[in-house]
Amino acid sequence: MASAYEKLKRILTLERDQNYRDRAVIGGLARFLTYWEKEARQEAERNRPPVTVDDVLRILDGYAQQTVTTRRQGVERLLALLELNGTEKPSSSQAQQAASLTWAAQRQGALDAVQSPSVPPMQSSRVLQRQPAKPQGKEEQMTLDSPVTKLRGVSTVIASRLAKLGIKTIRDLLYHFPRRFDDFSDLKTISHLHLGDEATIVGRILETKVQQTRSGQTLVRTVITDGTGTIEASWFGQPYLEKKLKAGTEIVLSGRVDEYLGRLVFTSPEWEPVQRELLHTGRLVPVYPLTEGLSARWLRRLIRSALEFWAPRITDPLPQEILEETGLQGLGAALFQMHFPDNKASLERARQRLCFDELLLLQLGILGQRRVWRSQAAQAMHVPQQDLQAFVDNLPFKLTSAQQRAIASILEDLQKPVPMSRLLQGDVGSGKTVVAVAAILTTVRNGLQAAVMAPTTILAEQHYHTISGMLKCFPDIRCELLIGSLSASEKQNLHDEIAKGAVQVIIGTHALIQTATEFSRLGLVVVDEQHRFGVEQRAALRAKGSGFQPHLLAMSATPIPRTLALTIYGDLDISVLDELPPNRQHVATAIRDRSSRERVYSFIEQQIKQGHQAFVICPLIDESDKLDVRAAVAEYEHLQQKVFPHLRVGLLHGRMSAEEKEQVMAGFKEGLYDILVSTAVVEVGIDVPNATVILVEGAERFGLAQLHQFRGRVGRGEFKSYCILLSDDPSPASLARLQIMEQTHDGFALAEKDLEMRGPGDFFGIRQSGLPTLRVARLSDTAILEKARAQALRLFENDPTLAAPEHQALAASVRRFWTIPDLS
Ligand code: ADP
Ligand code: MG
Repeated sequence: MASAYEKLKRILTLERDQNYRDRAVIGGLARFLTYWEKEARQEAERNRPPVTVDDVLRILDGYAQQTVTTRRQGVERLLALLELNGTEKPSSSQAQQAASLTWAAQRQGALDAVQSPSVPPMQSSRVLQRQPAKPQGKEEQMTLDSPVTKLRGVSTVIASRLAKLGIKTIRDLLYHFPRRFDDFSDLKTISHLHLGDEATIVGRILETKVQQTRSGQTLVRTVITDGTGTIEASWFGQPYLEKKLKAGTEIVLSGRVDEYLGRLVFTSPEWEPVQRELLHTGRLVPVYPLTEGLSARWLRRLIRSALEFWAPRITDPLPQEILEETGLQGLGAALFQMHFPDNKASLERARQRLCFDELLLLQLGILGQRRVWRSQAAQAMHVPQQDLQAFVDNLPFKLTSAQQRAIASILEDLQKPVPMSRLLQGDVGSGKTVVAVAAILTTVRNGLQAAVMAPTTILAEQHYHTISGMLKCFPDIRCELLIGSLSASEKQNLHDEIAKGAVQVIIGTHALIQTATEFSRLGLVVVDEQHRFGVEQRAALRAKGSGFQPHLLAMSATPIPRTLALTIYGDLDISVLDELPPNRQHVATAIRDRSSRERVYSFIEQQIKQGHQAFVICPLIDESDKLDVRAAVAEYEHLQQKVFPHLRVGLLHGRMSAEEKEQVMAGFKEGLYDILVSTAVVEVGIDVPNATVILVEGAERFGLAQLHQFRGRVGRGEFKSYCILLSDDPSPASLARLQIMEQTHDGFALAEKDLEMRGPGDFFGIRQSGLPTLRVARLSDTAILEKARAQALRLFENDPTLAAPEHQALAASVRRFWTIPDLS
């Protein structure tokens, strides 16, 4: 064993014998390590060390401050590694050569990622041709599904930290993609900053101050210099930053350059302590999501070395012909480039490949679900022409042609012995209910039952009134409402009646219908506003005792562009009501900034004086709804006490129980409040015809699709209605986006725009869609989406169960993708 490592071993042994009191060397281990490091690194250049210098430093980092238990764990671990790897000699000279070559390659790999700008960027082809690196694992039979502890340097403690990031296996590690890349070749000096730039600077902190703002928030302000000038950066509500941002610290700051009182400032920029290695790379440096106890640098190295080994070895699940036809990059090279791209173009190429994978797996899974669903028999119905005609004739309006088309498609589906699975999409007010009632009537006239499921009690009640109203002309049809407020005996009664088949149409909440009810002959399920009604839920309903699969009609007012709908609802046929009934008024929409706030309030006041009601939607602060709730409560108090003390203001937010929410909504509907202050939770589909104004605060923070949903809360009665979008920060981009709201009232057009501008991650409704999480794919990338869909359909046509030997790897990927837990 090399002498620096010999020394280390001796000292650690002594330390162990002395019960880990940090007394084995004068000045403590920390001091010893500072000179040991240099010597050890030199040795490591020549001979492959038993444990890397970095691992030693990491394990012993902060030894003086560690508890005795942690010290013992570290020391024992190192001693074990020194013992294990230090004593065994390579069995042949060839092996030795390979090992040292690899070691050099690994080091080189680590180096060109982090230090040396002179090393030419790695070509993807080189990655694949590179001398296979030695598995850095503790065992030779490592697979991608092996736990990360198989990797050298990953203890169980570290593994538990990695687990917090969702990384359990080596595969997880390879798919732990950077949050962003720092391009330090593109660094700016402070003197060259301009208002509105998205910029990264490096500087030293001159001073840091903490202040309280008038609203009681903490404001941490620092002044930073880089020699060319100074700039201020400030952060709200993060008092702990004071300790981290000490004068003298060198930091990297990234963010948008703002202006405050005529000076340039950064407001809440991203920041990191400077790591010298980053600055000298001259290439794209991956920045990973981290967690407590894992350093950026260490994780970068771990991923790098795992890639060195796996990129050339990984099995590509894509069949050769797909690779050829699509011209996509191989998986190993793509994974490597996702982490350590040569340049932006190669990053994009890698992203395309991984994006394709996700979309393909998504489609294959969905097509598989559709196949399972349709492999069960359903009751084929006949069309009750006369009754349908009577129903249509009785309506107080003429069906739009979109409604007629949708009804025709549904009737066609219902006549088949294969279960219908159809999504009826239509903007708020497009008249979906009447289409559903036509299907319900058909079902009942075939001697079957229909269930209508709504997400909340209020919506269930609303449906009950509308649907039973429309069916009034058929006195023999019995509709019942199944909701939580029924007494136990009422519920029991109703269940009995349903089980006997005495009730034909049951309207209730998802929860109630799914959990409690036995049907006698369930023929149709109508699901309102639930974005996906998955295979399991469907299976649960089938198990309710009818023996055959019910037909399914899902309804949604969330407009989703066609390409996206095909992807996420690929198991459903889609009907779109792309036409509103005639004579619908548009909700007048206007953008205002803070200078108009007073006028906006007096406008609301006028509307209320005329007997109307108003919604006020609070801004989306964060993903965490805790902050949203706080903001809503504050807004509510402010409006009630300061602005509208003489009016009745109500409050609705996501932390209220379902019952509380329902109560408030019901109260608003009954006119108990003049103004309802709400977070974004305000119910989709709720009907308050008397509400004529909706004021959206911080409008620039919402997607267009969601703003459109808000706007749909008003204009539901005969009264002229208004949507006011308040934006304190109308940057040119957000202003342009909001202006689309003024001009466009078509939910689908807005959804397309939204997708173009924001990407689907933010897309309203996708998060609740119950689909596997997409890490790479942007569904706005229609070209890849279509490629993936075409390949999925073809694969599915030839080999629907992916049973062929050449599809085994792909089949495994599909299974894995669809069971990956959602960690976001
Ligand atoms: P949504 O698609 O939002 O569920 P609804 O089914 O609640 O829409 O219909 C909204 C309103 O429009 C209801 O009052 C309904 O009676 C009315 N409506 C539906 N279809 C038509 C039509 N073809 N012409 C006129 N009014 C219609
Ligand atoms: Mg509706």
